Amino acid sequence: MDKKKGYLGLIGGGQLGKMFCLSASELGFKTIVLDPQKNSPASFVATKFICADYNDKKALDKIIAKSTAISIEFENIPIETANYINKKVCFYPPPKALQICQNRILEKNFLKNNNILTADFIEINKEQDLKNITNFSYPAILKTAMFGYDGKGQKVCQNSKDVRRFFVNFNTQPCILEKKINLVKEISQVVAINKKGGKSFFPIAENIHINGILSTSKSPANITNKIADEVVAVTDKIIRLLKYQGILAIEFFINKEQELLVNEMAPRTHNSGHFSMDACLYSQFYQQVAIMANLPFGNTQLQHRVVMKNILGDEYENGKLDIQNILQKPNHILHLYGKKNPLPSRKMGHVNIIEPLK
Ligand code: ADP
Ligand code: MG
Repeated sequence: MDKKKGYLGLIGGGQLGKMFCLSASELGFKTIVLDPQKNSPASFVATKFICADYNDKKALDKIIAKSTAISIEFENIPIETANYINKKVCFYPPPKALQICQNRILEKNFLKNNNILTADFIEINKEQDLKNITNFSYPAILKTAMFGYDGKGQKVCQNSKDVRRFFVNFNTQPCILEKKINLVKEISQVVAINKKGGKSFFPIAENIHINGILSTSKSPANITNKIADEVVAVTDKIIRLLKYQGILAIEFFINKEQELLVNEMAPRTHNSGHFSMDACLYSQFYQQVAIMANLPFGNTQLQHRVVMKNILGDEYENGKLDIQNILQKPNHILHLYGKKNPLPSRKMGHVNIIEPLK
């Protein structure tokens, strides 16, 4: 590693950034994190923290000067920032892949054009596109193309009237209208890809969302071998098409016909991969460090049966979260992110509950 630099750089300082810094530190690496928020979770554990906007050139030059490689924990950074960094230092993921993953219109078209199954959708870029919605099949979900997360920026529509109303509520920003699927199951795959094209798959997780927010992830997922093979095949195809390097998470739906549909892709570590912190020898955060520091991938085989439960702000604030109780359980491992303000749907931490594999 270049001695003058020597830091692992990260854009974004949320909980994913915090857990990345802790993993890097376990391996003796120094970290430098850039985030616009002063007291972001990673700011307390990063070796160096830069509080600046994602497009602040001076700040970007600073992190570039210190870093051997730079990655992200948040996908909604300006694409110009990704391109700027990528010209000067190893950057994960490739900016082009980031651009596709951060915009649902680009993402869904990318999947469709490559014959990867998704929920049926149409683009609504402007008011004139609303003429296409009458014959769409309802119920459907209107989703803003950009900046949606944890179910935010989406509304269920029973008819075209709803679509018009919500499109206006979203300030007529570009959206996709997508068929609401009768979900039998949601699953996800986290995978790590290094510079040499080496790949490391995590065990597939089975996910339950409540109000659009991930509530629990369990692994192993209760799915057929056929579906598991399909997940790997689709993931491989996406990696190849995007020339992907870095950590990639893919969320899937399984519908009543037992078809596998891609829901969305995240170009970073993922909430549904947090089980790996306690149920695998090496976590998704370790693999991110490994990619950036040119280390071999760690073993990701499942060592325990595991359920990851998210702790949201409402549970945290109402005192419903019995920390004493969790800590006394022999198989519960608690992770808290150190966020000050427990807003109702804010992710405050998670618990991994492990059981013997068999
Ligand atoms: P976010 O970026 O907020 O995670 P998603 O598109 O993944 O957005 O939607 C969040 C959750 O909402 C999904 O995990 C799923 O439970 C539900 N959902 C989203 N789209 C659909 C759909 N087309 N049909 C059925 N449920 C959906
Ligand atoms: Mg999602």
